[in-house]
Amino acid sequence: MKKALKIILGLILTVIIIVFGFIIYDRITSDNTYTISEKNLKIPIFVYHDIVENEDEVEFDYMQISKETFEEQILGLMKLGYKPISYEELIAYSKGDIAISKKSFLITFDDGFDGVYRHAYPFAKKYNIPITSFIINNYIGKEGYFSWKDAREMDKSGVVSIYSHSLKHDEYNKYLSQDLLQDVTESLTNIEKELGHDITKVFTYPYGLYNEEGQKLLKENGIVQNLTDNKINKSNKLNIYGLSRMYPLNDPVWKIILKIEYRSIRY
Ligand SMILES: [Zn+2]
Repeated sequence: MKKALKIILGLILTVIIIVFGFIIYDRITSDNTYTISEKNLKIPIFVYHDIVENEDEVEFDYMQISKETFEEQILGLMKLGYKPISYEELIAYSKGDIAISKKSFLITFDDGFDGVYRHAYPFAKKYNIPITSFIINNYIGKEGYFSWKDAREMDKSGVVSIYSHSLKHDEYNKYLSQDLLQDVTESLTNIEKELGHDITKVFTYPYGLYNEEGQKLLKENGIVQNLTDNKINKSNKLNIYGLSRMYPLNDPVWKIILKIEYRSIRY
């Protein structure tokens, strides 16, 4: 009996030492940076839609997040060593040109809602955090969406990147690839015209709907593509022409981290 107790205590102690060892190792290496060939990194891309002032305005968990919860998520992750990066950095990393932090992640907003300009942008500016807004050209300036004037201001700040979420937010998996290419090209060209400079060609499929033929044609035209599949990118099979994105929802930081770890093992 005594011997069994000793073994159990020994096992518990071993587990505690391993867990603490892991946490300490994680903390002391959190500033380490790696190039794409050096280490297999998990690179989550967060997909948000609108930011609202108060908790009670959150109607759907995947569509709205309160300003407070959003800030808690991002600052909480950063406190634990997570580093927000831009698409420019992700692309340069994918080509082997730069090293990135081992806990890099990206913050994206779909559709171009007003809350991005009103809440995400001031926060991003205050903490110098790169964020990305995927806009729908035909919706910009309409009720509930920010305007081109807002877009230009955010773009000038250097913390917000504006990329394409198509001209009209259709189900593009049903499109002929030529028609998809035309829509996305027109959307990107229009953004460049409105912002007054060239942009990196980045596109996000509305509703995450795509087909392989369209994806291939956009890739041939050098267009970086985002899906909405709730998975985590891993650098050993990083595909910038089919990037995975996950929903942080209105979750607390610990739950987001668990999801990142779980999904990177599962997929
Ligand atoms: Zn959308």
